[in-house]
Amino acid sequence: MRFVPSHLQRSAATLDGRSAVRSMLLIFAAVMICVSAMVFTALDRVGHYANQLDENRSREAVSGALQTFGEQLAATLHDYAAWDDAAENTYVREDISWLDRNFGEMSADNQLFDVALILDHSGQPVSAYSDGERMQPELTGFVTPDVWTLFDKVRRMQADELPEASSFVSTSKGVAAVAIGLIRAKSGELSVAAEETRYVLFFRHLSATTVERLARAYVLPGLSLIPPSGQISHVVPILSPTNAVIGGLSWVPRSPGDTSLAQVRPLVWCAVAMIAIYMLLLFVSGNQALARLSAEEATALRLAMTDRLSGLANRSGLFAGLRDLVIKAQSEGKDVALLYLDLDGFKEVNDAYGHATGDVLIRSVSAGLRVLAGEERVLSRLGGDEFAIAFVGFDVHKTAAELAERVLDFLGEPLTMGERVAVIGCSIGLSVSRRGLVPSEELIRRADMAMYRSKEEGRGRWTLYDPSMDEEREERNLLELDLRAAIDAEEITVVYQPIADSRNFRLYGVEALARWNRKDHGPVSPDVFIPIAESTGLIDLLGLCVLRTACTTLKAWPDLALSVNVSPGQFRDPAFVSRVGKVLEETGIEPSRLTLELTETYFIQNPQRARKTLDLLRETGVKIALDDFGSGFSSVGYLRQFGFDRIKLDRSLVESVGESSRAVEMLRATVALARSLDMPVTAEGVESEAQALALRLAGCDLLQGFLLGRPVGAEVIDRLRRSGPLLQLPNTA
Ligand code: C2E
Ligand code: CA
Ligand code: CA
Repeated sequence: MRFVPSHLQRSAATLDGRSAVRSMLLIFAAVMICVSAMVFTALDRVGHYANQLDENRSREAVSGALQTFGEQLAATLHDYAAWDDAAENTYVREDISWLDRNFGEMSADNQLFDVALILDHSGQPVSAYSDGERMQPELTGFVTPDVWTLFDKVRRMQADELPEASSFVSTSKGVAAVAIGLIRAKSGELSVAAEETRYVLFFRHLSATTVERLARAYVLPGLSLIPPSGQISHVVPILSPTNAVIGGLSWVPRSPGDTSLAQVRPLVWCAVAMIAIYMLLLFVSGNQALARLSAEEATALRLAMTDRLSGLANRSGLFAGLRDLVIKAQSEGKDVALLYLDLDGFKEVNDAYGHATGDVLIRSVSAGLRVLAGEERVLSRLGGDEFAIAFVGFDVHKTAAELAERVLDFLGEPLTMGERVAVIGCSIGLSVSRRGLVPSEELIRRADMAMYRSKEEGRGRWTLYDPSMDEEREERNLLELDLRAAIDAEEITVVYQPIADSRNFRLYGVEALARWNRKDHGPVSPDVFIPIAESTGLIDLLGLCVLRTACTTLKAWPDLALSVNVSPGQFRDPAFVSRVGKVLEETGIEPSRLTLELTETYFIQNPQRARKTLDLLRETGVKIALDDFGSGFSSVGYLRQFGFDRIKLDRSLVESVGESSRAVEMLRATVALARSLDMPVTAEGVESEAQALALRLAGCDLLQGFLLGRPVGAEVIDRLRRSGPLLQLPNTA
């Protein structure tokens, strides 16, 4: 399993999208529920309202039916009671049989009344018929207290009142409309005393057939007579003269609202379901689109965090990984360690063999580091030839040191790049964040600084960050500021080291060396300030300043040759050649007296351009010497390719003379080689007479070193010019 930063596992945007979709779904569900509830409530209301309307209409119809039922009876009674023939036969002829025929027998199959009673003033029956049949004297079932109440009312009516009354009553035959009227002439005239008066009572019962007829006439389905204690809805109560409920007419409600609702509801449910399905589809497809987007986003993010060449995390990936490690360290109380490594020999390989080989090298180093770093560790390529490994653990110093050693061992072995083999080596800086308390940026900065320390101290090693490094960096910055000021103030001076002819040890020439007496600090070694000048670009000014001073001084020494050191940075400047030409012109120095000393670095890094610059310089007549030969990579190939005017043997080679005969052998072979290529050789750092002799014997024509003279001021050289040989040896040639 490879380490994957948490945000790559699931990106923030995806989470946002997911939760957005989820909350949208929730909102949608809520809206759907609300809308459905509203629609169904509205439908219910409409249905209820329709039901209510129907209920009211039915109630009105039933009430009307009942009222008409009673009124019809009252009208019929009026016709019979206020009737001249009836009055004549009742009061004048007193013909009971006529009354029986015209009142009682009419109750048979009569839709207008089914019971007819004739009562005298005291309420005694004169004639009594039910359904056309004479009733036996027992009338209590009909002349109930309610009927008596009504009868009394009619009996007591004044002459100016209509002597009739009607109502509903309960009889032994059921609930009936009853109408009572005084028998009298149509004109209302009455020829008998009150005690002689007769009354006619008609009953019309709400029998099953009657009710059915009403139902048909008034379009009231299910109309039925119910007892007083029956249901309370869909019923119109029937009241007695004393306003007591004696029964009711009930009907079956048609509930048109319910019927309509029953028809509409499935349609509405269908619509709701369709909308829900539509939204669900929308949600699903939205979610899919989101998933696709987030996958693409994750891929893009992963690519953005990955180094193309090595497949490792890049700088952004390292930061992301470190962030996760810091969180982990803080929560688990662990430490974070960071190894920052820089390949030592990458540039050389790249320059010598080309970028394709360089790429192969980066890939194989990456593969090796991947194995060494192992799982659960953040491995990253920060660009160029810089890598970083980060991990968490308890007291990581030991683990980190072991890992650094393993990496150094691995890169200390020859690496195969296609057909080529090279030892690359690396410098490592190590920094530790206790409990993850050091921010990532700072952790990287510290490891980087420690890595530079490894470089400075000779490469191929690891260094643990120390706070003093910051102070040194600070000191270096101050030094840089002071150096800039010193160059501006022309405080950089030049000393000259004698160079002697090896045959007679006489002064042949001088090498100009820069000196800086830093204000308030004292002398600073060129080994310190030259690298600073090189890395800050100040070397252009400084180098030119030394060249001008030395050439000016040289005007007073027409017999001497001059060597001046040139840094790769100066050589890289396209204006360099013309600047040298200008100084020579200004000072009037013969170009062939000037030798520019260059180290091999630049020739290895930029062979083509170096060649061009060299050719241009040669055209001016200036000579070029390869400085520090034997200290680095130099190969015979370079010597032949560039055809230097002179070789300067590095001090380290010279030092080894006198140590062993093999060293002398090597020295001799080297000088012989250079001479075979037509390149005279200067030996540097000659400190003993033995060395001087051996070098001369080996074939070095010029010698330089403390034995012959330290770098000194111009006035000392003035003196040396006038005195004899720099050295007196027994067998000086
Ligand atoms: P270099 O070009 O190899 O200069 C020779 C260095 O070796 C000088 O050190 C000199 O003092 C020292 N040296 C000479 N003879 C002996 C000896 O017998 N024994 C020992 N132990 N040392 C000896 P210095 O002056 O400290 O310069 C160091 C380096 O700084 C020079 O090495 C050169 O690379 C650089 N440098 C000095 N001046 C300039 C300059 O004006 N321009 C540039 N680009 N580099 C300069
Ligand atoms: Ca030199
Ligand atoms: Ca040198």
